[in-house]
Amino acid sequence: MPELPEVEVTRLSFADRIAGARVLSARTGKPLRWALGCDPARLAGRTVRGVRRRGKYLLMDLDEGMLLLHLGMSGSLSFSDTAPPAGPHDHFDLVTSRGVLRLNDPRRFGAVVYAHSESAPEAVKLLGRLGVEPLGDDFDAQAFHVALQARHAPVKQVLLAGDIVVGVGNIYASEALFLAGIRPTTRASRISLERATRLHAAVRDVLARAVEKGGSTLRDFSNAQGESGYFQLEANVYDREGLPCRVCEAPVRRIVQGQRATYYCTRCQR
Ligand SMILES: [Zn+2]
Repeated sequence: MPELPEVEVTRLSFADRIAGARVLSARTGKPLRWALGCDPARLAGRTVRGVRRRGKYLLMDLDEGMLLLHLGMSGSLSFSDTAPPAGPHDHFDLVTSRGVLRLNDPRRFGAVVYAHSESAPEAVKLLGRLGVEPLGDDFDAQAFHVALQARHAPVKQVLLAGDIVVGVGNIYASEALFLAGIRPTTRASRISLERATRLHAAVRDVLARAVEKGGSTLRDFSNAQGESGYFQLEANVYDREGLPCRVCEAPVRRIVQGQRATYYCTRCQR
């Protein structure tokens, strides 16, 4: 599943080139998670102002209205000078004066949604409940601690829920908790300010490093992402069940929380 770093790197891969482009035509394929919400023909003639990211959504601002793009479970975007005929999994094309933006999504949990503005109901429905951006200035350690105090669920599940801070997916949550020395099963409300501050820094660190790694592995910026794999960071705990902790050599433990695998070190994380 594409996580925040993959979405951000996808954005970086085409945002500069598509800004200023004129939309020539748009094509939709099979139904995605949500309908486009307008006749694709209506997009023709509009100008792309730029591409922002909010959580795992890409927000493409047009001179009139905007498109919200989500990669779902298996989506990927490519931006190329010309696109070959659409394949069976190519479900959205935006043909512009600068190139063709194409969404390939075999499982079709992704979506492209038109909204008149960010405050329009169709946008608020998708963006309204998102927490703060983990890499932005609004993500503040003290406010993070206050928000954690109000939650009684295990801290890892609180991170994954995305309403305090967005974009901390399963891998990044496990890794951040390891760096902060916090056991994933700890109730969020029991985390001290000092530990919350460490977790805040760890969340930013793992996500920023993943974006950096993704940016450096993305060599061919003429064809965005291409695949939806993770940028393989040197994981400390994720997917390392039974292997020695890189710090203390105790075997990494795997448990299941909310149907998601969690990995942690029983010695380093308390
Ligand atoms: Zn350890």
